[in-house]
Amino acid sequence: MAPQDPSAISALHLSRLGFAKRSYQARSGGLAAAFFMFAVLMIQKQVPLWVWVGPVIYSFLWPQLAWRRARDAANPRDAERGNLLTDQFLVGMGMACMQFSLLPCILSVSITGMNTIAGGGFRLWWRGCVLQALGVASGVAIFGFSWQPDTSTLTVLGSIPLLVLQPLVVGYSALTAFQALNAQRIELERHSQYDGLSGLFNRMHWEKQVRAEFARFGRRHEPVVLVLADLDNFKRVNDSFGHPVGDEAIRRFAAALKRVLRETDVLGRFGGEEFGILLPGTRAQAALETVERLRRDLHDCPLTDQMLVTASFGLVELNPGISSVEEWLRLVDQMLYQAKDQGRDQVAEMGELTPSDRIRLDA
Ligand code: GH3
Ligand code: MG
Ligand code: MG
Repeated sequence: MAPQDPSAISALHLSRLGFAKRSYQARSGGLAAAFFMFAVLMIQKQVPLWVWVGPVIYSFLWPQLAWRRARDAANPRDAERGNLLTDQFLVGMGMACMQFSLLPCILSVSITGMNTIAGGGFRLWWRGCVLQALGVASGVAIFGFSWQPDTSTLTVLGSIPLLVLQPLVVGYSALTAFQALNAQRIELERHSQYDGLSGLFNRMHWEKQVRAEFARFGRRHEPVVLVLADLDNFKRVNDSFGHPVGDEAIRRFAAALKRVLRETDVLGRFGGEEFGILLPGTRAQAALETVERLRRDLHDCPLTDQMLVTASFGLVELNPGISSVEEWLRLVDQMLYQAKDQGRDQVAEMGELTPSDRIRLDA
């Protein structure tokens, strides 16, 4: 089996622990509120004092034990699902113990059912129902069977904390779950758009912006220029000084792009030591001046401390003669290779396409 990334493992563990924590909050809040209901039933039945031990343990000790069990487990989510099934069994027993007092039983069944479905869906709930039935059978065997369909006003009053508090706890727990998910979604979206080394857009996201700009040009005909940049003889940097120096040069080049270009320009790492620059609202002449400034900047602020690393650039302003993004990129690539052929450390620009250009391109 391939070795797993330890940070990914701990992120997974944290998410499972988060689930167990939310379940713990729902259980401890719900059972603390339910204690009022148990207390009212016990007061009405005038049970001996020792009988109170059971509901006290169930309401206050069991949520702590369940949390510890989930927290210390290798897989807190699975352990918490086990706790939810235990809840169902205990509720079954509790119903027999409460002599099937109607309102408390309905509340217990619906609230544990809600928690179980939230924790493991209908499959877990079905299993929970079986366990609840077993709990009822065990409870009847221990406490005997009696049936109390009438609910006193006092019992209704004792149920109010559970009725009011539990939806608040569940709502809060849903909110925290949503916030955690949203934070994960934002982080994932960021990862899917940016290149880790340079901090610029990755190729896929950058090309998406190029396509959007191409489509906008079809509607509004506002000038837009595409530039591809490639670091010169970059292999030599890696070979002579090692990959970390090469990586640092890529980072510094990205910083130079951000320094020299405008915020509205769209910068991406096209791959390796190749970069894409989209300059919306810019004509070829202005773009040429900007890219020239960038080229000179690499001489003034070197990309490595060991040797001068220059870059070559291809530049094409979009015009109605260019029929697709692919064609536009191909033209810019041709310009880039022209800059390389002509000796590197320079910018090659293509003006409007002439009919002979088109014939050459189509060939
Ligand atoms: P040219 O002037 O013709 O572009 O020559 P070059 O040496 O730059 O071109 P070539 O395509 O032969 O080599 C590109 C090198 O860029 C090879 C590869 O090791 C290096 N490279 C690509 N991505 C990275 C990276 O992320 N980090 C580092 N350090 N090097 C990279
Ligand atoms: Mg290169
Ligand atoms: Mg290259």
